[in-house]
Amino acid sequence: MRVADKLRQAAESGAGFFSLEFFPPKTEQGVANLYERIERLARLNPLFVAVTWGAGGSTAQRTVELCSACQGVFGLETVMHLTCTNMDRAMVDEALAGAKAAGVQNILALRGDRPRNQEYQVQANGFAYAADLVRYVRAQYGDYFCIGVAGYPEGHAESDDKEQDFEHFKAKVRAGADFVVSQLVFDPELFVAWERRCRAHGIDVPIVPGVLPVQSYQSFRRLAFLTKVHVPAQLQAQLGDAKANDQAVKDVGVAHAAAAVRALREAGARGVHLTTLNLEASVCRVLHEVGLAPAADPRPLTATAAPALPAAL
Ligand code: FAD
Repeated sequence: MRVADKLRQAAESGAGFFSLEFFPPKTEQGVANLYERIERLARLNPLFVAVTWGAGGSTAQRTVELCSACQGVFGLETVMHLTCTNMDRAMVDEALAGAKAAGVQNILALRGDRPRNQEYQVQANGFAYAADLVRYVRAQYGDYFCIGVAGYPEGHAESDDKEQDFEHFKAKVRAGADFVVSQLVFDPELFVAWERRCRAHGIDVPIVPGVLPVQSYQSFRRLAFLTKVHVPAQLQAQLGDAKANDQAVKDVGVAHAAAAVRALREAGARGVHLTTLNLEASVCRVLHEVGLAPAADPRPLTATAAPALPAAL
């Protein structure tokens, strides 16, 4: 089913929802561990799950295989991320064909970041921006794929001209996007103001705020540096105080993410997209604290409860 339709249904029913994001692990053991976590998280009924795509196509096969497992084995509505910079058209074609063969009907169309040690390159017959990919997917597949795009409440990190960046974002949605997932939100007020601005500019597709329960101080620092998102002073201070203690960092991350989800929902968002970093404990705690999921399910996996898991990659 198309994620945009599910988001509209959730908005009409007034029911709260959440969605989850995973990345494709590099090792067989990592995949096996993730499958077990996804099987448990699936019981919490996410509206959809999303699987990231490595810059330049570095995870192409692993991303398609994980999407195939999420959609086909775990029965979760799945969004495949797909970037286009530094990739030729044949790679994009292969990815889209793989997604369709796996029964995946939703794509998050992205330009992507520069692959490590490379400059941005438009390959022969390739694409410069996400809007080009949106148009291409639409032209090749009509309405088969429901297409999402990324939105940046504080503007894109690389853009010096935020007005121009917003115009690019509007053009990307007009190119044929069906829904938007936002950059990570640490300051809900910034998301709420941006969403209002989007609506005032006629953007009427569903917009889902992205939320990350911080799980490690180092990865948080790297992410904040790369994305340049505003981190409220209180969160910075709490994480700084907790940084020597991994569990204390996770506790701060859960408390802040839960507060952000509550604030977003009070301001009208029906749900949130949670970045899991392939871990489950913090995400489950956040969902429980905000009433979007029951307390952790203590049932062990059993041969009868667990679906037949696909072989790890
Ligand atoms: P675009 O919308 O194409 O914009 C990129 C930049 O180009 C912006 O600064 C914009 O203002 C500018 N621009 C756009 N159009 C034009 C134009 N016509 N002329 C001049 N300038 C223009 N990265 C991954 O590698 N894999 C992932 O799975 C992934 N998932 C993500 C999920 C979400 C929800 C988000 C928010 C980001 C994700 N990213 C991912 C990161 C993303 O790829 C980077 O932020 C990337 O730099 C921009 O991608 P985009 O699709 O937003 O680009």
